[in-house]
Amino acid sequence: MAPTSNPEPHASSSDGAGATAGSAHATAGSAHATAGSAHATAGSAHDVLVIGGGPAGSSCAYWLAEAGWDVVVVERKRFPRDKTCGDGLTPRSVRQLQDMGLAGALSGAHRYEGLRACGYGRQLELDWPAHPSFPSHGYVITRHDLDQLVAERAAKAGATVRQGTEALEPLLDEAVGGAADGLPACLGAVVRDKDSGQRSEVRARYVVVADGANSRFGRALGMSRRRGWPMGMALRGYYRSARHDDPFIESHLDIRDASGAVVPGYGWIFPLGDGRVNVGVGLLTVAGRWKGVNTSTLLDTFVAQAPPAWGLSPEAACGPATGGKLPMGLAVGPRVGPNVVAIGDATGSINPFNGEGIAYGYETGRLAAACLGEALSGAGAPALARYEQRLEDAYGLYYAVARAFVELISHPHLMQICIRTGMHSHGLMAMLLRVMANLMRPSELGSAEAAYLALASLGKLLRRA
Ligand SMILES: Cc1cc2nc3c(=O)[nH]c(=O)nc-3n(C[C@H](O)[C@H](O)[C@H](O)COP(=O)(O)OP(=O)(O)OC[C@H]3O[C@@H](n4cnc5c(N)ncnc54)[C@H](O)[C@@H]3O)c2cc1C
Repeated sequence: MAPTSNPEPHASSSDGAGATAGSAHATAGSAHATAGSAHATAGSAHDVLVIGGGPAGSSCAYWLAEAGWDVVVVERKRFPRDKTCGDGLTPRSVRQLQDMGLAGALSGAHRYEGLRACGYGRQLELDWPAHPSFPSHGYVITRHDLDQLVAERAAKAGATVRQGTEALEPLLDEAVGGAADGLPACLGAVVRDKDSGQRSEVRARYVVVADGANSRFGRALGMSRRRGWPMGMALRGYYRSARHDDPFIESHLDIRDASGAVVPGYGWIFPLGDGRVNVGVGLLTVAGRWKGVNTSTLLDTFVAQAPPAWGLSPEAACGPATGGKLPMGLAVGPRVGPNVVAIGDATGSINPFNGEGIAYGYETGRLAAACLGEALSGAGAPALARYEQRLEDAYGLYYAVARAFVELISHPHLMQICIRTGMHSHGLMAMLLRVMANLMRPSELGSAEAAYLALASLGKLLRRA
């Protein structure tokens, strides 16, 4: 196991992710030096091409560059750039940022200590739990600032980050193709410089798809989402608030549609510490259910009904709200080809329990970097194929349980019973927080771990069914 690995049995997402770090790959730039890849074609300029410089792409590029590989990221926007998000970093994200050497850079961001869960007239303050691998705090920081930090970190480690460069389409390797149930082989991408409009080709031995939830590049390679699986939709805006430096992020578990009916999802108020709070609503859909709910109305209703102490109102809004999709539970595939892997939202890596995706972008990027390092070191396509198994080991069962949970709460009556019951017990909600934020302790069988194991047995049964 890698020195920086995360020991959770169901969440060993960084296992091996640092495996190539420190290895003697001072051959950066020598794209053809290593045997074992079917793609060391003449004209391959880079070891790895990463499409997209968000959390997943920048993390993957950082770990590859840190290990000495020649990696280029193409990012269609220029940093700093906005990205619609709740801006909440949980301890899992903080851990990954620390591992990338960014602990100091986060010191200016708003640090918070836990979650205030609200619902049905009650509220509970739940500190982040003590954990052997994760810190007991999180941060709220705009993606405008965060994503620039990580992209710069990757560049400092040696990655080439080409901003304002959009990948238009993959360059398919017809000579190699791919397995019927996998991604096709890819020689690189046709890219366009956004300023000059000029098109060119970027070629590499390996290609990483990290272009986010809409993933046009992934779709061009044949990726698609499993329609019956849970999917999130969310809308958020910034508001001025006197409570901008609250030490807790706040979740409201009883958000209502225009008719007053409770819907599956939650409303959030995340304090940014700079005079503003990030306010949003997220909705879960399963097999198309709840698709008709208007998230703008949901957000307006949430803002109108939020606790008065936050001072939220349409007048306090800093601008219009923006929304996006949350592909979750690893619902998007296939994700591996002979020389291609997909990471982050492009493969639906968001945690269905809580809609958290930044940590899983970092983690899947790191996991892919480990597999790519092995492939580049001579093990070739079989090493890359192991990415699928490593994802399964890290998240397979946990996400199966999470999907079952989403199925459950998409029945309003059941959801209300669960939340009403939970809101009467601090212990129960603290346990649920550990399960839902994927912060269970591996070496201890506490109540959260026991509850998870019970749910996991159910998940195993469901997966067999
Ligand atoms: C409203 C909302 C609230 C959320 N709140 C939270 C939260 O509080 N905490 C949390 O952990 N997660 C949250 N998420 C989820 C989180 O935003 C994502 O999971 C995360 O951004 C995934 O990172 P990524 O790198 O996979 O994709 P992205 O962050 O989407 O990055 C993809 C990058 O690829 C670039 N790109 C796209 N196409 C191309 C192309 N063709 N060529 C070149 N570049 C391209 C994009 O410009 C972008 O920079 C939220 C999501 C939404 C929609």
